[in-house]
Amino acid sequence: MERKDVLIALADIARQRSFTERIRAMFAARQAHPAACVDTFGCQQNVADGQKLMGMLREMGFSFTQEPKEADLVILNTCAVREHAEQRVFGNLGALTHTKKENPEQVICLCGCMAQEERVARRVKESYRHVDLVFGPHALWKFPELLWQVYESHKRVFSVADEHGSIAEGIPTVREAGVKAWVSIMYGCNNFCSYCIVPYVRGRERSREKDAVLAEVRELVESGYKDITLLGQNVNSYGNDLDGEYDFADLLSDIDCIPGDYLIRFMSSHPKDATHKLFDTMARCGHVAKQLHLPFQSGNDRVLREMNRRYTRAQYLEEIHYAKAKMPGLVLTSDVIIGFPGETEAEAMDTVSLVDEVGFDALFTFIYSPRPGTKAAALPDPVPRSEKQKWFDQLLEVQNAKSAAAHAAYVGRMERVLVDGESDDPDWPLSSRTEGNRLVRLKGDKALIGRFANVRITDSNTWALYGEAVTE
Ligand code: SF4
Repeated sequence: MERKDVLIALADIARQRSFTERIRAMFAARQAHPAACVDTFGCQQNVADGQKLMGMLREMGFSFTQEPKEADLVILNTCAVREHAEQRVFGNLGALTHTKKENPEQVICLCGCMAQEERVARRVKESYRHVDLVFGPHALWKFPELLWQVYESHKRVFSVADEHGSIAEGIPTVREAGVKAWVSIMYGCNNFCSYCIVPYVRGRERSREKDAVLAEVRELVESGYKDITLLGQNVNSYGNDLDGEYDFADLLSDIDCIPGDYLIRFMSSHPKDATHKLFDTMARCGHVAKQLHLPFQSGNDRVLREMNRRYTRAQYLEEIHYAKAKMPGLVLTSDVIIGFPGETEAEAMDTVSLVDEVGFDALFTFIYSPRPGTKAAALPDPVPRSEKQKWFDQLLEVQNAKSAAAHAAYVGRMERVLVDGESDDPDWPLSSRTEGNRLVRLKGDKALIGRFANVRITDSNTWALYGEAVTE
C-alpha cells in the first residue's frame, strides 16, 4: 500500500472535528452536561488509544466518571490477546443491560481489538442488542462520525471492516497527569506469530513520520513529563515501511538530542529487528533508559519455528550477550509462553534453561491460551493443562529466584529514581522507579513526587526494592 494512502488526509481529520462540534452543539442545546465512562483493557497501546477516545470526548463536551451507572456514554475499549480478558468483557457488557434499563438514553460502545474480530462483532450483533456502537482500532479516528450516526439515526452502528490500517495525526489526547506518558510511534504487525491475534485486528505495520514523533516527544518534555515510553507492537521495526534507511536506532538518536531531564523507554521489541546498531545507540544515548524488554517466548528452536518467531535460541542469546556487554547493568525483561500446542516437557525445559542462563530481572509468563482464528488454535494440543501447570511452576521457581537475587544485589546501593506517586503501604508511602524500571517503595517526603531523587536501597524481595530518599 502506498504511503500516501496510509496517512489520513488532514481534510478528513477536519471533517471529524465537524461531527465533534455537532455533538457538542446537540448537548448544549439540551443544556446537558454529559458524562462518559471509558474502561480500557490490555496493553499500553490500548491505553494510548483510550486516551485519544477521551481526548475526542472532551472536545465533544463530555466529563468523565468511573461509574457506568452515572454515565451517558459507556465505552469498553477491549483487548483480544487472552481468553480470560474476553470473558470479562462479555461479563461487563451483560451487566450494562441494567444501567441501560435505568437510563434508556445511555449509549453503550464496544471498541478495541476484540471488537475488530468478526466472530465477536457477530455475537454482539445477535446477543447483546443493548450495545449501540461497535468499532475496531482501524476506525478509532472516525469515532466522532460514528457516534454522531448513533445519536442521529437511533440505530446500532458497526464499523469493523478488515483493513490494512492507517495513521491519523492530530487527534486530541487526554493524558494521565503526572510524570509518565506514552507515544505510539508505529501501529500494526506484519509477523503473524502463529499464536497471536494482533495482526488480524490491528493491520499491517505503519510507522509515523519521524517529525511527528519528535514534535510529540518535545512537547511532552516541555510539559514536564519525565518518563516517556515509545510504543509499537514491534517498536524496533520502526521505519521498515518508510522510504530510505531511517530506522528505530536513528529515531532514538534524534529523540536523545531533545534537551531536558527525562528518560525514554520503548516496548515491545522483536528479536528479529534487535540490531547491534540499536544496542550501540542505547548505550550511547543518555536519555535512553538502560532497560530492554525483548520477548523470547520459547527457548526451543522447533517451538520457535512453530510459533513463526523467525529467530533461534542461539541468535536470541547472541543479542542478549551483545546488549549486556555494551550496557553493563542493563535491566532485562521478557515474555514467555509455556504449553504451546505440541510442546513436550523437554522443549518446555529448554525454555526454563534459557531463563536460567540469561538471568532476566523479571518475566511476564503465560500458559498458552488459544485465540480463535490463529494458526496455533488449529494445532493438536494433547498435553493436559495440569501438566503444563507443572512446567509453568518450574519456570516460576527459577525466575523468582533470579528476580530475588537480582533485587538483593541492589541492597546498600545508591540509585537515582523517579518518584511517580504515593503507594498504598503506610510504611513505604512513596512509589518510584529506577532507570531500569524496577519498583522502589520509598520512605521520603511527598514533595518528591514528580521528581528524580537519589535513594539508598535498604531492602528487597522478589518483586520490589525498598529504600530511603537521601538528601544531598
Ligand atoms: S510480533 Fe508476533 S506476538 Fe508480537 S504482535 Fe506481532 S504477531 Fe503478535
